Amino acid sequence: MDLPGRTVYIATMKVKFLTSALDVKGYPPGLMPEVAVVGRSNAGKSSFINALTNQKIAKVSGTPGKTRLLNFFELDEKLYMVDMPGYGFATGDRQEVLGWLNMCETYFRERKTLKGVLLIMDIRRGWEEEEEMLKGWLDHNKIPFAVLLNKSDKLSRSPMLNRKQEIAKSTGDVPLVIVSAAKKTGMEDVKAFLFKKW
Ligand code: GDP
Repeated sequence: MDLPGRTVYIATMKVKFLTSALDVKGYPPGLMPEVAVVGRSNAGKSSFINALTNQKIAKVSGTPGKTRLLNFFELDEKLYMVDMPGYGFATGDRQEVLGWLNMCETYFRERKTLKGVLLIMDIRRGWEEEEEMLKGWLDHNKIPFAVLLNKSDKLSRSPMLNRKQEIAKSTGDVPLVIVSAAKKTGMEDVKAFLFKKW
């Protein structure tokens, strides 16, 4: 495991933006294995994608929860990565929430090339209702997933490991990886899933 503060070298990936889609009709043809990235608004999903690829491809938003489409990217001519809309909106707009639910559930059910999902969490937050719901969908569709505990640079080592243990009580056997998009730590551990395991 990389630790915060350690200097890490991240290889820059070849990234191509494919398309944005609202529904199944808009998905690009599934020509490569695909991994989706999902997370609560402000958990650091865009920052994570940028750290992983070592370039600014996903917008780091000042206004949380504004991305409402599935954004498809191709990584290193090997894998599609889908940036999913964030959840947990402060506005409480019911239509917006229903739209999000429908978009995600349809995607998980319909996308046959989906190999796995990365769920990005802020390491300081608990496992809540939405995470449990996502886990339910993924388990139901037999889609493997890993939980990335982001913003680990905000904690020192002991609280960091305590948080991991705490979240593991809810996730069971699912891999939990401590990362920091800001410090670009943990990225090689994540790549092991993306390009080897899944
Ligand atoms: P998203 O809504 O999940 O896509 O989150 P963003 O990537 O837009 O990040 C939300 C905020 O958290 C931004 O201010 C980021 O700079 C910050 N952030 C993201 N990742 C990290 C991290 O690993 N460490 C710290 N300290 N801040 C982070």
